[in-house]
Amino acid sequence: MSKKAIFLDRDGVLVDNSQHYYIWETDQLTLVDGAIGNLKILTQKGFQLFIVSNQGGISRGLYSKDDILKLHAALIQELSANQIEITEIAFCPHHPEVEKCLCRKPDSLMIDKLIAKYQISKPDSYLIGDSRSDMDAAKKAGIKGIQIIPNQNMFPHLSFLNK
Ligand SMILES: [Mg+2]
Ligand SMILES: [Zn+2]
Repeated sequence: MSKKAIFLDRDGVLVDNSQHYYIWETDQLTLVDGAIGNLKILTQKGFQLFIVSNQGGISRGLYSKDDILKLHAALIQELSANQIEITEIAFCPHHPEVEKCLCRKPDSLMIDKLIAKYQISKPDSYLIGDSRSDMDAAKKAGIKGIQIIPNQNMFPHLSFLNK
């Protein structure tokens, strides 16, 4: 059976970034309205969930990789307390002003690697993001992109589930 997945952008999609452009401390961790309920719906529809996030603040020296790993552990814990399993969180630590890479969205290496590692079916999978670069990354990875409004409940955009 083919495995279908939802790749979620982190900031502006799951984590509210309306107050902070970069988020790395656990006390900045506020979920976007409806995130828990929407992830439950996606899980019930049989999708494996992944997070793919640009964290160029690491390259820029604003915070460390360790800060992000701690934040992600807190995020995973909060979601799993609500019976939501995130299979893996991938992040790109690079910033183009510091070092070039192929993983930062709009490039698709983070997504390509997860698709290969978990044998995900591309025709059945989506990336939900709040920016143009998310949509470009989805296109490069060969999956469909769903663009939502930053920091707003994504529920009105989940109509693709009824297809
Ligand atoms: Mg975003
Ligand atoms: Zn990168």
